[in-house]
Amino acid sequence: MKPTHIGRSWTGHRIEDTCPCPKAPCGLVIAETADPTCSEHPWVACKSMRQSHPADQCPGAAA
Ligand SMILES: [Zn+2]
Ligand SMILES: [Zn+2]
Repeated sequence: MKPTHIGRSWTGHRIEDTCPCPKAPCGLVIAETADPTCSEHPWVACKSMRQSHPADQCPGAAA
């Protein structure tokens, strides 16, 4: 599975800024390394992710 960056907000990454998960350069969470203690990002939390993109298309990596 390709590394993916995920975010719970429609825009920006306010939720991600305050959660314990490791972050990608774009400010979103790296899905594969989401902290299991986070209530927002692990797949087991079954929350809808409103933003996501493959790591190789990360807008933060190019900046
Ligand atoms: Zn998180
Ligand atoms: Zn990204």
